[in-house]
Amino acid sequence: MAKVTDHIKNAKSTLFSMEILPPSTGESIQKLFENLEPLMEFKPKFIDVTYHREEYVFKKMPNGLLEQKSIKKRPGTVSICAAIMHKYHVDTVPHIICGGFTKEETEYALIDLNFLGIDNVLALRGDSIKGQKAFEPTPRGHTFASDLVSQIHSMNKGIYLSEELQNPTPTTFCIGVAGYPEKHFEAPNLKTDLKFLKQKIENGADYVVTQMFFDNKKYFEFVDKCRSEGINVPIIPGIKPITTKSQIYNLPRNFYIDMPEDLIDALDRCRSDNEVKAVGIEWAIMQSKELMAKNVPCLHFYSMGKSTSIHQIASKLY
Ligand code: FAD
Repeated sequence: MAKVTDHIKNAKSTLFSMEILPPSTGESIQKLFENLEPLMEFKPKFIDVTYHREEYVFKKMPNGLLEQKSIKKRPGTVSICAAIMHKYHVDTVPHIICGGFTKEETEYALIDLNFLGIDNVLALRGDSIKGQKAFEPTPRGHTFASDLVSQIHSMNKGIYLSEELQNPTPTTFCIGVAGYPEKHFEAPNLKTDLKFLKQKIENGADYVVTQMFFDNKKYFEFVDKCRSEGINVPIIPGIKPITTKSQIYNLPRNFYIDMPEDLIDALDRCRSDNEVKAVGIEWAIMQSKELMAKNVPCLHFYSMGKSTSIHQIASKLY
């Protein structure tokens, strides 16, 4: 299997890739395969699988008191990656996050990935747990994605946490990180955010995948600014097809991104879910065609568990 950066190096044109979510607890992997299957005709070079942290829920006890419980709504990232690789012979990119992991647990997770033959990871900090105001690092875990990148990069050089190991085997991870054309919501400004993005690259990251954006100008400006700051790795644009009217509000609220006026106007005029989907598809095709014309390395589609729109978009592009 190959690294994301090798796929990019060997590509003759813009590659196709996507991000999927593990099924909710209790759902079968079959549903995921049914969603994925139709997209295989476009030969994705890699498929990202998101990681979802535990959440705290409160359950009312018979005595009236509330019991706090920790649950995972979407477990299975690593096994899904292995299952997809096994079934479709496509490279997978598990997302790994700082939150909820000590450095030792991160090392064990990376060893698992290495043994499974998974050579790609997207290294992220993760968000705060629901109910927490800001991200709280796990004791003996990492505070920023750049620290996680350093740990993975060290393992690639054969440096594990224990200094007593005799000749530990170097891992061979290709490391992706997140970038935000409209800046990360906690950063005071884009310039500061780019300084920390550069830190992730200097610590060993090989490429960047962007947060979704709906105005290509934001991506092109972001790439220009990255290049002038000395960030020279591939920057893969993330594309999200709009599928529901409520996303007009939900996406900016959850992902801190702007929606262009023309897109909002077009969505406002829609009278049915099918019309909304059609607008979302048309917009994503327009974005993708312009990005491809500028020779972006790869288009990375955010599926959020649904593939029909992506199938219609990809069939117009690939
Ligand atoms: P970082 O790069 O650590 O940055 C976080 C913030 O800290 C930024 O504001 C940055 O400017 C600032 N910062 C960085 N370094 C420093 C420093 N040394 N000192 C001070 N400030 C600093 N979340 C999940 O939980 N699971 C997923 O699967 C997932 N997949 C994602 C995929 C993509 C492509 C993207 C764009 C995001 C994804 N996220 C996921 C969300 C991500 O975890 C959040 O956006 C999170 O808030 C930030 O993660 P990061 O890796 O960008 O953090």
